[in-house]
Amino acid sequence: LNHEVVIIGGGSAGIATASSMLKRRPLLDFAIVEPSEDHYYQPGWTMVGGGVFEAAVTRRPTASVMPKQAHWIRQAAASFQPESSQVTLVDGSTVTYKILIVAPGIRLAWERIEGIEETLGRNGVTSNYRFDLAPYTWELVRGLKSGRAIFSQPPMPIKCAGAPQKAMYLSCDAWLDRGVLNDIDVEFRNAGGVLFGVKEYVPALMEYVEKYGIDLKLNQTLIAVDGPDRKATFKTEAGEETVEFDMLHAVPPQVAPQFVADSPLANPESGFVDIDKFTLQHVRYPNVFGVGDAGSTPNAKTAAAVRKQAPIVAVNALAALDGGQPGADYDGYGSCPLTVERGKIVLAEFGYDGKLLPTFPEWMIDGTRPRKLSWLLKSEALPWIYWNGMLKGREWLVKPRVRAAA
Ligand code: FAD
Repeated sequence: LNHEVVIIGGGSAGIATASSMLKRRPLLDFAIVEPSEDHYYQPGWTMVGGGVFEAAVTRRPTASVMPKQAHWIRQAAASFQPESSQVTLVDGSTVTYKILIVAPGIRLAWERIEGIEETLGRNGVTSNYRFDLAPYTWELVRGLKSGRAIFSQPPMPIKCAGAPQKAMYLSCDAWLDRGVLNDIDVEFRNAGGVLFGVKEYVPALMEYVEKYGIDLKLNQTLIAVDGPDRKATFKTEAGEETVEFDMLHAVPPQVAPQFVADSPLANPESGFVDIDKFTLQHVRYPNVFGVGDAGSTPNAKTAAAVRKQAPIVAVNALAALDGGQPGADYDGYGSCPLTVERGKIVLAEFGYDGKLLPTFPEWMIDGTRPRKLSWLLKSEALPWIYWNGMLKGREWLVKPRVRAAA
């Protein structure tokens, strides 16, 4: 098989980039390598775990989001041979390309928490990081009347770094509403040393930590879970600590997909696709680009970042296809709508080096404060923008600025 452009992964980044390229060049010959029959809107899983969305609204058939012009290769990529512009698929067949775009997402490394896989979805152990488990989060929240609820956060990088605490705030809000919060000990055990990585958002979040009476424990990494006995073990600065729980919302450590980490495309340290943080072009292979969670760029790994990256990659990859240089730069934008209560959100939007990059003027939405309008954005507008804008290559508000040719 041979195609002008080959995209690995038909998730948020793969489909958005394909559509963005097609808007610019409708007759492009390209293939998308994607094994899954289902496409997920993962940002909706926080809302499923909070009892706001039904899980079904976050899933659509991959066939329905695939651009009509795409050749869909329904299997997984297994390895890369960038010296000969070739990808090998799991069945051993090969695909060659002029341009390769790598977008297989990030891998959930559940195996790094001993004993958790056997008990996920049972014994009070849940995670909004999986489509099938997010409804169980809400089931547990509704059922809990007293005891200890632990919410864990692994070391960075993870996709949507705010999601572990979003699950906690929405749970606390539901318990407060039912009048049982006083009888539940809520703990946030975070492997990191701060509540949130961009300091401007921390004061608003701390107000909620205090309001809900959350016990905030930093520098603690979940390493083992005993489901039947309902015990979780954390690595702490002092050694190890085992605690009992009635509910555990766990977030897995996250790593580069193995076939990327094992390939010549990998960044030697992180294993993610080794790309320039502005142009998103591979640092060693100019006909290769990376986009989305699989990239080595130090932005917040979010669908919001993908919304800005996809047109940048589209512009730069088409320039490379034509024998030119990349002309568009990504500013590191990512966004994390922190659901601090049902009906209000602290809308974190920031780029490289923690620079605040608000989409809206401050009088409309002050992102550092809880706002009702931000909640409407997350619950009503963003899902619609995702399915009908981003995945279709309609780029309202995100037109990439192209540098003038030198
Ligand atoms: P994905 O969308 O995960 O897609 C990767 C695709 O690659 C998948 O379809 C997969 O099947 C495919 N693939 C994997 N391996 C291979 C292979 N070997 N060969 C071919 N294809 C392969 N983002 C926000 O902007 N806002 C939020 O509020 C938000 N909340 C979140 C809450 C949760 C609980 C979670 C889990 C995520 C959240 N995100 C949020 C993050 C967002 O979902 C991701 O950043 C986004 O989906 C990244 O897109 P991607 O295409 O890189 O990866």
